Amino acid sequence: MGWTASALCAVAVFTAPGVDANDTPVEGHRYEVTIDADLDSATIEVTFDHDVRYLYAGSRAAIANLESAIGCSGATIERRGWRLVVAGESCMTYRSRLPDRDSRRRVAIPDDVRWTTSDQWLWKPRRTRELNVGFSMPDGLEVSVPWQRTADGFRIPRIGSSGSAVTLFGDLSKIRIPIGDTAVRLTGAGVDMTEVEPWIRRAVTDVALVYGRFPVPEPQVVVLPARSSGRSSHGVYFGHVIRDEGTAIQFYIDPSKTTAEMNTDWTAAHEFSHLMLPYTTRWVSEGFASYYQNVLLARRGEYSETEVWRRLTNSFAKAGAIRNPPKLANLGDRPFWEMRMLIYWSGAALALMADVELRSRPGGVASLDDLLDGLQRCCLPARTSWSGAMLFERFDEIDDSDVMTSLFERFLASDGMPADVDDLLGRLGVRRSAGQVWFDESAPLAGIGRTIMAKR
Ligand SMILES: [Zn+2]
Repeated sequence: MGWTASALCAVAVFTAPGVDANDTPVEGHRYEVTIDADLDSATIEVTFDHDVRYLYAGSRAAIANLESAIGCSGATIERRGWRLVVAGESCMTYRSRLPDRDSRRRVAIPDDVRWTTSDQWLWKPRRTRELNVGFSMPDGLEVSVPWQRTADGFRIPRIGSSGSAVTLFGDLSKIRIPIGDTAVRLTGAGVDMTEVEPWIRRAVTDVALVYGRFPVPEPQVVVLPARSSGRSSHGVYFGHVIRDEGTAIQFYIDPSKTTAEMNTDWTAAHEFSHLMLPYTTRWVSEGFASYYQNVLLARRGEYSETEVWRRLTNSFAKAGAIRNPPKLANLGDRPFWEMRMLIYWSGAALALMADVELRSRPGGVASLDDLLDGLQRCCLPARTSWSGAMLFERFDEIDDSDVMTSLFERFLASDGMPADVDDLLGRLGVRRSAGQVWFDESAPLAGIGRTIMAKR
């Protein structure tokens, strides 16, 4: 996950159903994007709201894709490397090809859908307030972007600038799933939305039940068919979160699977759980999401209590079996694929340990759920990436204690998985013998484990 896809003919101005009209005056530059009927190119009219000297390409691809650029004065706009020289122009029009993003190995994108990232076609001023973008789409075709919706299009927030926001154009199925006072903007292509929509609805509801609301407003959720098959019995191959120019979550699925089959998979619980934290240190981010994927599927009744403990115990054991592990503080220096289990499950052990500690002491914040509730109230959606230290200091401010930073520092100093994770599992009542995991009701912390996983 990261701090994380159109010439001219008859067009229909894109207006999203149920758009939240925003009456505040529009500030920032205005982009009007017209996507051609073949989805091959975009014509972009830019009106500047203040003097701008240059527009910058977001990637090398944007330079290759640029077909023409003309100022309102009628003069051709000069390109100097990564820059378009727009000084002296109050508006301009440029045209860009829209090639599919080239990483299509994993995804079977339907022919009538164009999947791009904004860095491939959107030239932006370097320092800007906000960009307002409207779309004119060919009849019957839609656009999906992670940007914030406005009455007449979208606003690209200042956060994020890597341009990896996925922009989809074409024959898309779009469903708005209301959740509390926000909604999830679900887009599918090449998948059966009657199966996909209830699966996504269930997963976002599970996350919202952690503290009574969904952590971030209006995320874009894109579900596409995976090219490969046979690797996942549950039908969900891969998911990831992109936090750039908004929040986007993407899933690549086996389109033949049903809601019931996908509901047994942890991927959606994992990806949506990421949204409860800002973008932060990888092992912490992956760890919390890995902990909550298990907790949420237990609370939904998908996993029995024993099943959750079996999964956590086995994963902790695999992470603990990595030879010559680095201190967790240095985990990011080692190759991801070598350290994968440690990255995912050391952070999950920390989350479990934090949850048990908060629940077993008198006073203070009563659980990890409540701590994340406090974090959402103060700090989400986050405008920047957070260091692990920042995150845990904020946790302690919320809790008015040093519980979380102490735990974090202890983990940072540990060579691989901390040895006392096994001890904690023992006190929670998790027993292992002959490869089997079972649960001992008489253990001192058995009640806490049961409360964490209790159905909601
Ligand atoms: Zn993850």
